Amino acid sequence: MVAQIIDGKAFAAKMRDKIAAQVAALKADHGITPGLAVVLVGQDPASQVYVRSKGKQTVEVGMASFEHRLAADTSEAELLAVIDALNADPKIHGILVQLPLPDHLDSDLVINRIDPAKDVDGFHISNVGLLGTGQKAMVPCTPLGCLMMLRAHHGSLSGLHAVVVGRSNIVGKPMAQLLLGDSCTVTIAHSRTRNLAEICRSADILVAAVGRPEMIPGEWVKPGATVMDVGINRVADGAKTRLVGDVDFDSAAAVAGAITPVPGGVGPMTIACLLANTLTATCRANGLPEPEGLTV
Ligand code: NDP
Repeated sequence: MVAQIIDGKAFAAKMRDKIAAQVAALKADHGITPGLAVVLVGQDPASQVYVRSKGKQTVEVGMASFEHRLAADTSEAELLAVIDALNADPKIHGILVQLPLPDHLDSDLVINRIDPAKDVDGFHISNVGLLGTGQKAMVPCTPLGCLMMLRAHHGSLSGLHAVVVGRSNIVGKPMAQLLLGDSCTVTIAHSRTRNLAEICRSADILVAAVGRPEMIPGEWVKPGATVMDVGINRVADGAKTRLVGDVDFDSAAAVAGAITPVPGGVGPMTIACLLANTLTATCRANGLPEPEGLTV
């Protein structure tokens, strides 16, 4: 069997078009421009690339982008003051603090200072609690993107066995909550899991969010299963480097029913969902109906 490729790049492009149309309507009908503020502390090269890309795509869909680049030795008090100012600013509907933060800053404290209504990453403890109890939340972008692609591919996910490998707060745990919310039977695996191969082989939906290059081979994939590869790993390839996922693509694609490639699968959907969350936050803040098909 040759797996169907789930084209996240195309999916994300369609989503951005839909968002751009709704942003244009918001401006025309209500004079409102959604605003997204991104706060970056320090010079981490990967974070700088992400922040640039987020800013570019924010502007492309017609939203206002605000970047706050702070020195690596910014104090906690200074960073919290920036967040307080953004919380109070009516032009800003979404706030994202780029992680990881330098070691001297307490990420939990910083994230929990963001107004939950503007927490477009969905990491604030209130949004985590709302998601966990099946209430309307801001949903973390990467798992939200995965869920949207899974729904588009399968229709109903009800009763399917989903295995999520990885239990981080930003991917694994919210992914598991979302799948549970869609009535999957969910297993969460992690570094202490025994019989990982066997558990993976029982999955109708296998989500890999580990950060270990190509650790899941095709033999761990149930024939016909849907594989969502969240991993982004840079590996050496001669003198150059290339990106690979947590799944060994070639062997997995030979048995899976559908699979996301790396790059071009889950990755592009993450920023598209950030823009979707910003639009949702803008509508909620202004008492307007929420955009259809952009949140769960
Ligand atoms: P974390 O490092 O926070 O979590 C990794 C998880 O994998 C942990 O729960 C860990 O278990 C588990 N794990 C580690 N080794 C093994 C193993 N041998 N067997 C089973 N489980 C294992 O990573 P993130 O969740 O932040 O990210 C995961 C991957 O997804 C990374 O490659 C990251 O780059 C990528 N990513 C991609 C995004 C996108 O936009 N596509 C966005 C965010 C992340 P334990 O808890 O026991 O330590």
